[in-house]
Amino acid sequence: MKDYIIIGSGIIGCLIAKELSKYQVDILVLEKENDVVNGQTVANSAIIHAGYDLKPGTLKAKLCVKGNAMYDDLEKELSIPLLKTGGLVVAKNEKELDDLKRIYDQAIQNGIKGVSIINQETLRKKEPHLKSSLVAALDLPTTKVTFPWQVAMAALTFAKANGAQIKTNAKVTNITYQNGMFQVEINDEEWIETMHIISCAGVFSDHIARMIENIIPYQILPRKGEYYVLDKRVKGLFQHVIYPLPN
Ligand SMILES: Cc1cc2nc3c(=O)[nH]c(=O)nc-3n(C[C@H](O)[C@H](O)[C@H](O)COP(=O)(O)OP(=O)(O)OC[C@H]3O[C@@H](n4cnc5c(N)ncnc54)[C@H](O)[C@@H]3O)c2cc1C
Repeated sequence: MKDYIIIGSGIIGCLIAKELSKYQVDILVLEKENDVVNGQTVANSAIIHAGYDLKPGTLKAKLCVKGNAMYDDLEKELSIPLLKTGGLVVAKNEKELDDLKRIYDQAIQNGIKGVSIINQETLRKKEPHLKSSLVAALDLPTTKVTFPWQVAMAALTFAKANGAQIKTNAKVTNITYQNGMFQVEINDEEWIETMHIISCAGVFSDHIARMIENIIPYQILPRKGEYYVLDKRVKGLFQHVIYPLPN
């Protein structure tokens, strides 16, 4: 019998395991793949967003800003790489300036520190290789870049050292609830009992939710996309994370 079963060993599951492992609790992390940290966490843009484009007052906006600030402590606690690059949201023309001001107000409402609108001249000084016709930018000093796989691995290593167990090739296939306990089925065969379940199954979270609830008011539809990766010879061409205006 476990105190906590964490479903999924992505960055969310690993960081939750790390925090819980500081307490006297029995933790089991279940991962359906044959290795840990192999979902979205292994292949993304690695940006720790400032939270400028999220609707003020929403949980997502609050957690994004709070989570961003937490990385300064995580850097020391887990010895992870953290590039404090800052971010720039660029306006292509005068028409886009209004939108830039709107997201500036939104960024202020979301409590992002140090945010400002910079003019063309300052933008050129910060990023000389950007198109010279760009008129202004929203400067976001709290935007950072890390290596999410390493963050998750460091967190899981921390949790393991504190006694958390990790089981790979262990797909959660069913969940039942009886006598105040959850019963978690693994690979359609083995059952493990637990007091609590924390679902961190990424884009499969709706599958897990459906094992417990009959009506789930959402469905996750994953999409595939394409990334362009610049050659390492152009390293240093840009210093910041550069964003277009959100549409
Ligand atoms: C292309 C791309 C770019 C991105 N860029 C950024 C960015 O710059 N900044 C940012 O903050 N976010 C970014 N994201 C989003 C970010 O990567 C994810 O939000 C984050 O990695 C999610 O972590 P997770 O732990 O929730 O999920 P995952 O890393 O996907 O982990 C979920 C784990 O659960 C396991 N699992 C699922 N179902 C089961 C089951 N039934 N039983 C057992 N295990 C199960 C999976 O195998 C997986 O290992 C990006 C995402 C993508 C795809």
